[in-house]
Amino acid sequence: MRFLYYLIFSFLIISCGDSDFVPTSASVINKSQTPENLNKFYGANMRHLYVRVFYEPNAEPYAGKNNRDQPVWGLLEENLKKIFEVRTQNTQVNVPKELNEMNLVTAQEKDSWTPGEIVQFAQTLGVPPTDEASSFFTIMFLKGAYNSGDQISNSVLGVSITGTTIIAIFKDAIRQLGPSDESLVVKFGEQATLVHEMGHALGVVANGVDAVTEHHDQAHGAHCSNSDCVMYWQNEGNQDLLQFIQGLVTEGNKTLYGSQCLDDIKAYSP
Ligand SMILES: [Zn+2]
Ligand SMILES: [Zn+2]
Repeated sequence: MRFLYYLIFSFLIISCGDSDFVPTSASVINKSQTPENLNKFYGANMRHLYVRVFYEPNAEPYAGKNNRDQPVWGLLEENLKKIFEVRTQNTQVNVPKELNEMNLVTAQEKDSWTPGEIVQFAQTLGVPPTDEASSFFTIMFLKGAYNSGDQISNSVLGVSITGTTIIAIFKDAIRQLGPSDESLVVKFGEQATLVHEMGHALGVVANGVDAVTEHHDQAHGAHCSNSDCVMYWQNEGNQDLLQFIQGLVTEGNKTLYGSQCLDDIKAYSP
């Protein structure tokens, strides 16, 4: 049951790894995604969403194909496409699929990362071009653990830095999801983490995008009360959780955002 334990434990954590980042130079505290960012993502001029991926040595993302001969990164791509599809918004999603489309960075030799350190590191990776029609997300695969400032946690899988387009994935924690790098559970687990963190960056649940139905699990932050949704903070029953991952392993890439979260995004008016 060790396997199951890891699943439960880690799902609990993906959902709790979000961080309210307060830039030292800024006077405004971002508690959620900013209206500026959201109005751009969901604006009439938005044509391209670019995902830029950076990884440290020995923290490379899982790439290639899954058990159904679909790209592993197709899971994130499909879910991002779904977001613009429900809005009938003419925005192209650009997600790299293979490691040679992602960027190896020099080893940072850090044991832990605070939100401030994550943002600082992202800033060294080059500033994406600014233009009305494009939004860039920076996803960094890091060695070392998440440090909230108060506490270092070896089991936080990923964080979306509030008010930015920066996401960090903690590869050592991701690896704890399954028995080896070849296991489907770790591959789907990594992608599900990305889908979850991108959901926060894109404003759900009530993370800048208003909830239009009763599904905001306020007690757990920007999470969803629908246990079949990737934005759910945890699966209460082992069976539910196992089914969530098993559904992916047996059905391949599919929409992980529940209908309530998609309805919020559909209703957002810039
Ligand atoms: Zn979360
Ligand atoms: Zn949801």
